[in-house]
Amino acid sequence: MLRLHDIFLRKFILLFGTIFLILGVVVYIWIKNIYIEQTKIDLLHNINILSQGIKDFNNLDEIVSQIKNSIGLRVTIINKDGVVIAESDEDKISMENHSDRFEVIHSKYQEYGSIVRKSDTLNKMLLYVSKKFTLQDEEYYIRMARDIEQINEEFFYLSLKIGILFLFFIAIAFWVARHISKKVELETTEILTFLTNLTKHNKNITIESTYSYEFHKITQLLSEVSKTLLKKEKQKSKYTAKLKLSNRQKDDIISAISHEFKNPIAVISGYTQTLLDDEDINPVIREKFLKKISSNSDKLTTMIDRLRLTLKLEDGKQTKNFTKVDLVKITKIIIDDLKISYPHREIYLEADDIKIEADETMLRIAIENLVENGLKYSQDDVYINITNKEISVRDNGIGIKEKDLERITNKFYRVSNNTWNNSLGVGLSLVSNIIKFHKFKLEIKSIENEGSTFTIKLH
Ligand code: ADP
Repeated sequence: MLRLHDIFLRKFILLFGTIFLILGVVVYIWIKNIYIEQTKIDLLHNINILSQGIKDFNNLDEIVSQIKNSIGLRVTIINKDGVVIAESDEDKISMENHSDRFEVIHSKYQEYGSIVRKSDTLNKMLLYVSKKFTLQDEEYYIRMARDIEQINEEFFYLSLKIGILFLFFIAIAFWVARHISKKVELETTEILTFLTNLTKHNKNITIESTYSYEFHKITQLLSEVSKTLLKKEKQKSKYTAKLKLSNRQKDDIISAISHEFKNPIAVISGYTQTLLDDEDINPVIREKFLKKISSNSDKLTTMIDRLRLTLKLEDGKQTKNFTKVDLVKITKIIIDDLKISYPHREIYLEADDIKIEADETMLRIAIENLVENGLKYSQDDVYINITNKEISVRDNGIGIKEKDLERITNKFYRVSNNTWNNSLGVGLSLVSNIIKFHKFKLEIKSIENEGSTFTIKLH
């Protein structure tokens, strides 16, 4: 494939060559005409001067040869019968009768006669100009001629000069084209390298060219393309990571659900089977079994409700059902409920008489979760403190590692080395969503092996 400067050069040579040729021909014809016209005027001028100097027909030969010697013109004097009576370049005796010569015939009837033709005598192209004069009542013709080949010669030298100039310009054009081509090659190589890098997943690259507007624009656009690709790539990997996470979470959900649901279901089916197998079972034991079945199905219902609420809150589908909620009243109910499951534990409440605008069911779930977590993750008492600014739940339990603090409110997140019952890892995520739903804030302070304080900031 041709290089850019080769293309330039070929086109330049073709273009300049054609222009040079056309111009050459036009200029040649034009200059030649001008030259011939000018020479004609000069010859006429000389003929006029000579005619003034001729007083008689004596020593004409001498006059014509003097003119030949001084200004190099061929001079012929012809009488009215066409006989050559003086000639500068030849022996007039040997010369033919000139009455049939074109220029002589024309000068007979016109101011002067002229023609460019080959001289029979000198055997070369000459411009003849002939004019009629009268001397001593006799008509005669002075004819002067100039070598026309001289024009061709002069034109040849002129063409040579133009040709050299032309070659000089071509050389400059070649040099300029080569220079441009090198620059363009450099810029295109850079663009190609850039594109290669771009296709090799190296998106974080930029390119800039100031060589020409077009290159500047191209590189600017390419840099933008690279930026957009990088952004898209980042979005894609973020999206992929999100997908992976949500896949993992789904797995977690399934394993958590199957793990946590297994126990109560096993209890329910075990006791049910026993009751079915033994119709005469002791009524006290029957009641005890039925209570077990009921409490485990309650557990299942609670877990399912929490899951549903979590999903609803996350999707923003939960409708507002705000009323004036008596915080002390609902907390006492929560404590009483929890005491059933944790009969040997103490839950202390210190509270002002506070009523706030809230969704009672949700708020109960949130506070219950925090208190139950306090019970689950400690062996000691749990303290609840309610002011008009906040609700805090404190325990002196296992605490939470700093690295886990940020993530414990994530859905299905559970600190890996904890084992407990009735746990799906949705508790704190649900609490956090309920708090967000109320536009409250959750503050968690915890020190490992010392305890945790979960505070719902009401303002
Ligand atoms: P779950 O409902 O299964 O208890 P949560 O979302 O309530 O899950 O809790 C998430 C994680 O936070 C658990 O892994 C638990 O270890 C930790 N956690 C929650 N509350 C406490 C607490 N009071 N003390 C120590 N760790 C806690």
